[in-house]
Amino acid sequence: MSLYRDTGVVLRVQKLGEADRIITLLTRRHGKVRAVAKGVRRTTSRFGARLEPFGHVDVQFYTGRTLDIITQVQTVDAFGVGLVDDYPRYTAACAVLETADRLVPEEGEPALRLYLLLAGALRALSGGERDAGLVLDAFLLRAMAYAGWAPAVTECARCGAPGPHRAFSVPAGGSVCPRCRPAGAASPATETLRLMDALVHGDWAVAEASGDRARRECSGLVAAHLQWHMERQLRSLPLVDRQGRVEEQTT
Ligand SMILES: [Zn+2]
Repeated sequence: MSLYRDTGVVLRVQKLGEADRIITLLTRRHGKVRAVAKGVRRTTSRFGARLEPFGHVDVQFYTGRTLDIITQVQTVDAFGVGLVDDYPRYTAACAVLETADRLVPEEGEPALRLYLLLAGALRALSGGERDAGLVLDAFLLRAMAYAGWAPAVTECARCGAPGPHRAFSVPAGGSVCPRCRPAGAASPATETLRLMDALVHGDWAVAEASGDRARRECSGLVAAHLQWHMERQLRSLPLVDRQGRVEEQTT
């Protein structure tokens, strides 16, 4: 019998049988962990409520033959409490969880940087002091940097010429100079790329001074860049990863 402890964020909760759940966490030291929480769907469960999505928890695991078993849970931060009554914050937080989940396809691979980004983004969303859309885009840009495909924001994605440049192409890898600009590149406003650069570097004074148009344009480019790379990544995953889904818990 082997026990271990770790701190993590609950990414996903799935039903297992009559009373149990499979909890997917992104942990500080063990990367993504899928573990069974026994009896948590009974109303008398002591730790069921702590193991909901967005929960930041300290967990004791017992190493099982297939899935590990959760034996103790303590709440570190109940991020969900600040999110459930605010739809923009809630949807931004859902996108944060889903992206973190998809960026770590393998269990047990350390992902400390992503864990820290995830906990930081949920803390900011739950705290409510910063704009939810800006927090989400900052998280997505940094998460993409973690995955190794951050968009080029100031230099040209193809030749490295220093910018800022006026064109942005997702397939080319971000902002592009006039010579490298492929057909179909977008032409975002200068302020949009300035906002994107501020979000990458955590310059919140610049980010919060941005206008609505720049925020909308920045979100669109970030989402397009993320989707393009996610789809490429998903195609390279073994098929079993997509078929092995258990029934999702929706409550
Ligand atoms: Zn170039």
